[in-house]
Order: sequence, then C-alpha cells, then structure tokens
Amino acid sequence: MTLVTVATTSTTSTESTSISCPTCGGSECIEPAGNILDNLYTLYMACNSCPPDPKLKKDAPFRIIEEEGYDNTPCNNCGARHLDIVMVEALAVMIEYGCRSKEARLFDVGTPLIAIGCPLAFAPRLKNNDLILIADNIDPLVAEKLIDIPEIKGVIKRVGTPTQSVGILDTDSEPHTYELLAGCDVRCDVVASSFGELCIYKSQSKIHIEFGRESPAKMQVLERLYMQGHLTRKTVVDGFCGPGTLGLMCVLAGAEHVILNDAWRTAIENTLINIEVNKEILEVELEKFVDISTLPDIGDEPIQVAQAKGNGIVIDVFHGDFRKLLNLEEVDAFDICLIDTYPSVDATGFTKYDTTGRMVII
Ligand SMILES: [Zn+2]
Ligand SMILES: [Zn+2]
Repeated sequence: MTLVTVATTSTTSTESTSISCPTCGGSECIEPAGNILDNLYTLYMACNSCPPDPKLKKDAPFRIIEEEGYDNTPCNNCGARHLDIVMVEALAVMIEYGCRSKEARLFDVGTPLIAIGCPLAFAPRLKNNDLILIADNIDPLVAEKLIDIPEIKGVIKRVGTPTQSVGILDTDSEPHTYELLAGCDVRCDVVASSFGELCIYKSQSKIHIEFGRESPAKMQVLERLYMQGHLTRKTVVDGFCGPGTLGLMCVLAGAEHVILNDAWRTAIENTLINIEVNKEILEVELEKFVDISTLPDIGDEPIQVAQAKGNGIVIDVFHGDFRKLLNLEEVDAFDICLIDTYPSVDATGFTKYDTTGRMVII
C-alpha cells in the first residue's frame, strides 16, 4: 500500500484565517472553539429585557394559537426571540404556502436544531441564523420562504424515517442523506467529557444527528477506557470517525497517536474542520496532503488526507474502507480501535479483523 500524496497545503501559519464553510462557502458559519466556549453558557439565555416565555401550547392547532394571539416582536434590547415564537412563525409560513394546515401544531413544524448545540436547562432565545430546521413534507419554495425568517439558517428535508441514520452504513451501501433545501446546514455540537470540551461541526444534511443521551453515553465509554489505562500515551484508531468526535476526544484523554478514518468524504471534510477549529485545545497544527474535493464520496483504498502534530501528539486522517485500513503497516501497531457504527449496523462483524481484543464497540 502506498500513500498517495497530492499537493501539500500547509495551514500552519500563525495568523488566524477564517475557515470557509463547506456548504455555503461563507466565513461566518465556522468559528474557533475558543470563541464558542467562552460565551457558551449565556449564548441562548434571555437578557433582562427579553419578554417572558410565551407559553404557547405545543399540542394546540395553529388556529387556536392564532386566535389567542402571540407577540412575535424581537427583544428591544438583545434582538432575540423565544424558540417557540420562531417555530410558530415557521408554521405560519408553512400554512401560507400550503404544506401544513391550520390544524397543524408546533410539533408538526419539524425538528429544530440550534446552531451551537449544547445541553440547555431553558428554552433558547434565538438571534440571526441560530436555527436549522429539519422538516418532513416540504418543498424548496417553502424552504426559501422559511429562511426569510431571520433566525432560520437552513431548512433540511428529512428523507426516509426518523430512525434511519444519515450517512453511509458501510462502503457497500448507498449513502442515505437528507436534502438541504435552502440556506446552510453546517452547525456545531459542543461535546463535553471529563477530559474537556470540543466543538464538533457537522454538515447536518449528510452527517448523523445526535440527540439526547447519545453523546454523553459515548463519552462514558471513553472515560471507562481511560480509567482502565487504554488511552493515555496510546495509539488509538477511530475506525468510523464521522466528524471526528471520539478520536479527537481521545487526544484530550492523553492518547499520543490517533488515527481517524471514515469512508464517507463528508465525514472527513468535517473532521479536518474540527481539527482546525479545536487546534488550540488539541495543541496541534494541521497539514493537508490532499484536496478533499477530488476524493470520491465513498472511499475504498485508504488514502491519508492530512496529519496534525504538536506537543508530542500525532493525528493521522484517512479516507477509506475500514477493513482495508487495518492492512496498512503504519496502522497495525495500534493499542485500541474504536468502532462506532450506526445502531442499525452489526458492529461485531468488524471485530473479526482483530483477534487480540483491541477493538471496542462504542
Ligand atoms: Zn455555511
Ligand atoms: Zn433580550
């Protein structure tokens, strides 16, 4: 196996250059983790002047909410509006353009994802571009009208059932993606563990959407591996790395060499952004070997696309088939391999590639 090295585009310059968004090309979608974490816990909070919770009935038909009336004016101090007000505005637009009836409820609008996802003990107050909406039964015209609502950054059409994960199950299957109808689908989840916090950006129409306890449960697995001594100063393979969450968290847990791999190009594109965004926390500088846009959607023979280094840490990033990744000489000397596939995939099939018990299903 030879590694294909195309152009080397180093991003090791010390001046902070903005990262352009892989979906919309804009410079405001992606921010360094430090900027986000510094303001995280006040980000969606009501200011002293914000109107109180509108207490809209989420299970009442729109015609009732309309009859009872609601105040949709933004806060005159901070400019934010309550999530439910944004959702009722969205519902009004959907009704106007015929993709919902007046009997529809707030629940029927879709799934709201805030732009910076973090556990909140209160309903968020939203400002410009703070919300990405995932909706069923919606067409591009309505989506275009929805992004005229200032808080709505993007509208994604759900394809298939809510339980079908977005992305690829394995390299032999067709990718399952949602459809971005309007705006931009890039958002970030703040992932917290006892090792620290990372900001993980996702192209959300093509990358698995994590809800509820999913991420904390995975962090608990890492914390257990750490306690058992499997991470500190070890070489860790994150075989199905997605946007890089587990592998990058292993760097914070003290792993000295992390190999990130995914066959899905979007996952690798997001991983590289996430290394860049979190580089001060990870204490590394990223060097790209390949122009990611030239790679196929689904990789086969693993290609090393980038390496990040610093402070005794090496992070190698591969795009390719996991089963072939483990044939590579430079990958074989790992201590532990994390296998985090979708719930619908029988991950035990992958453990046959290692007989020494180094594979851990997350
Ligand atoms: Zn964008
Ligand atoms: Zn306010």
